[in-house]
Amino acid sequence: GMPAAPPPVLAPRRTTRQIKVGKVGVGSESPVSVQSMTTTLTSDVNATLQQIAELTATGCDIVRVACPSQDDAEALPEIAKHSQIPVIADIHFQPKYVFAAIEAGCAAVRVNPGNIKKFDDQIKEIAAAATDHGTSIRIGVNAGSLDPRLLAKYGKATPEALVESAKWEASLFEEHGFRDFKISVKHNDPVVMVRAYELLAEAGDWPLHLGVTEAGPAFQGTIKSATAFGALLSQGIGDTIRVSLSAPPVEEVKVGIQILQSLNLRPRKLEIVSCPSCGRAQVDVYTLAERVTAGLEGMEVPLRVAVMGCVVNGPGEAREADLGVASGNGKGQIFVKGEVIKTVPESMIVETLIEEAMRLAEEMEPV
Ligand code: SF4
Repeated sequence: GMPAAPPPVLAPRRTTRQIKVGKVGVGSESPVSVQSMTTTLTSDVNATLQQIAELTATGCDIVRVACPSQDDAEALPEIAKHSQIPVIADIHFQPKYVFAAIEAGCAAVRVNPGNIKKFDDQIKEIAAAATDHGTSIRIGVNAGSLDPRLLAKYGKATPEALVESAKWEASLFEEHGFRDFKISVKHNDPVVMVRAYELLAEAGDWPLHLGVTEAGPAFQGTIKSATAFGALLSQGIGDTIRVSLSAPPVEEVKVGIQILQSLNLRPRKLEIVSCPSCGRAQVDVYTLAERVTAGLEGMEVPLRVAVMGCVVNGPGEAREADLGVASGNGKGQIFVKGEVIKTVPESMIVETLIEEAMRLAEEMEPV
């Protein structure tokens, strides 16, 4: 049959140069990728690889590991070799670890020039080593570690200050002919962060790594990241994202993927369309939605399952979905592709939905 039309997006991607982080393309010709960062000691190779495996299984595209010590630098070759997704070494202060990471086979290195003294002198060598090894770079400007000269000039980490820092650091690489880098300008305030990325997007064709830094615990961090990324991605700005949460990194990946799916920047998989419930609800919608979500976790097909509390909007939504239930009078009407296929007692709703979902999923193509 005819291929389905691609789902609508809010804006075309901003055109950027294309870079590679290992096997993952970053730039306007590649899908927006999701990153996270390990929380293990990088020197503990087994623990780090275990966490990377969990992140990979959750759908993470690229992983970053901190490299604050010589022991960490020495662990990088094993980690880079055994990780199934590209590894970026995160280096703050010591240029010697930048060279170690490049030689270790890391796909990319994140540098924070504001934190590297005499950075200017070493760029030429870093650029040469990175070119030799096919390593890309992220220039990671961060409000908390802004170049002191810019802090003095602007008084604080304003969007203009972050962007001036990024442009200057980009020029240091570009004057040596090195172009394989992306840039981030992170701030913990989504408003400052969004403005900084807007300015940066106008200033050059660099691929951009989005992040709200120190976004906070899961709930606040999720909302700060989602609103900020949404504001930028809805203008086509952003080529790779990292949600920062004070929570396990797999949670960051789940949030990142959900943000991209919400904007149709990544195919939607399982989608639960559940009502908030209200005074009309004739069933415990929260529990029902939670149990159905838990029962279908990890589903790899684009299935829409409607869980509705009553018969007002229930049948309508349930009909629009692939599968759904509209509850009422201690019963659930089960809809499949718009048709009521059966009515079951309330106690059977969850297992019937899961059973039908599994049956439908078998007929669908994974995304
Ligand atoms: Fe309320 Fe029914 Fe709408 Fe759920 S579907 S929010 S119970 S009216």
